[in-house]
Amino acid sequence: EEAIQRFQARNPKSFEHHEAAIGSMPGGNTRTLLHTAPFPIAMVRGEGTKLYDLDGHEYFDFVGELTAGLYGHSNPKIKEAMTSVLSDIGLSLGATNIYEKKYADLLCSRFDLDSVRFANSGTEANIHALAAAREFTGKRKVVVFRGGYHGSVLAFGLGIAPNNVDREDWILSQYNDPDALEEVFTTHNDIAAVLVEGMQGSAGGIPGSKEFLRAIREQTRKAGTVFILDEVMTSRLHPGGLAATLDEKPDLKTLGKYLGGGMPFGAFGGRRDIMAVYDPRKQGSLSHSGTFQNNTLMLNAGYTGLAEVFTPDVTIQLNKKGEKFRTDLLEIFEGTEFTVTGVGSLMCIHCTKMGLTSTQIRAKDEYAPYEDLDLKKLFWLEMMEAGFWIHQRGSIALNLAMDAEAMEAFVRAVKAFCSRHHE
Ligand code: PLP
Repeated sequence: EEAIQRFQARNPKSFEHHEAAIGSMPGGNTRTLLHTAPFPIAMVRGEGTKLYDLDGHEYFDFVGELTAGLYGHSNPKIKEAMTSVLSDIGLSLGATNIYEKKYADLLCSRFDLDSVRFANSGTEANIHALAAAREFTGKRKVVVFRGGYHGSVLAFGLGIAPNNVDREDWILSQYNDPDALEEVFTTHNDIAAVLVEGMQGSAGGIPGSKEFLRAIREQTRKAGTVFILDEVMTSRLHPGGLAATLDEKPDLKTLGKYLGGGMPFGAFGGRRDIMAVYDPRKQGSLSHSGTFQNNTLMLNAGYTGLAEVFTPDVTIQLNKKGEKFRTDLLEIFEGTEFTVTGVGSLMCIHCTKMGLTSTQIRAKDEYAPYEDLDLKKLFWLEMMEAGFWIHQRGSIALNLAMDAEAMEAFVRAVKAFCSRHHE
């Protein structure tokens, strides 16, 4: 209560802005995930690893636009790539353009895909990958996992939401549970695809175990089902994406977020025989169109980012930084209600009443009933007061502009919070 009052007193302009925004947007907001109670903070500018809000506060940006902000704000190379499009190339050419092939080649070699197509978002990439799987197999149903998030209309919290159209097409199974998956394949024979995150992001940075992902590969191979790995968040965790760290190879992968260099982006690709359902030279091929999916601004910004900024060496370095950061946090959290899960540069801070440890957090529906939401909210509020921007659900995505100093300051602030609130 007291912290909320401090929050209100500290952010009068954000409050005023929110009240005014209600006039033209439901709840004054256009991205549900970014709404916070009692009202959201409105940002006005970002630079490097810093964010600046309407009330004049500045923050170290640990949200990293939920992984899309990998490059930090205004990376000079990406800025240059964008301005060169504006001044020399033109925005949308209304035709196939030469930038598509250049970026497609790079994505295929980096992420081990035979062929790829672009989309405007990760959501779209998943929708098109699912359509490909259905067309290729002639089957209908899709297995997804509780807590899975594959986009705005493909969100599976603890159940199938009303916005998942064709509700009977989804089979919900348990994340990290090979036996449950086997059961699903024993009882259904019309499964076109298994769609899964190698690490569940939105559910709280929960890594998939090797046995679980192996079971998906085995079951899908046996049943003639397409294994789609959603790498929208996780492609940044290794030079070849998270898939490169697994023993199993998925049939299709979906990509998104930072790969647009800050522009809206999605891509899906993998096995040539499956992707051939989109080959327009073939009669009866699936249509995959979208006005902006070959826009030059995204293609050039995305290409430049991956080719020149997020090189394989840089990828490895950033993820090492993340491992060290998480180890430091785990040390502080030892014996408290808090813990942190994740892989490399992506993580999520959890707070449970009985202080579950990181290895005990294996599926959202298992830990969710024990969350201490009040303490977690206090953590979020007080970290913000200390100048650290984290997502209210605890998600952290490191960006390339983040230096050791910022991470050490974060760790010190967490330590101070824990000593204030934990005897
Ligand atoms: N898939 C995963 C794993 C995601 O985390 C997200 C977004 O957070 C998406 C898909 C959807 O991407 P977009 O927001 O670009 O539609």
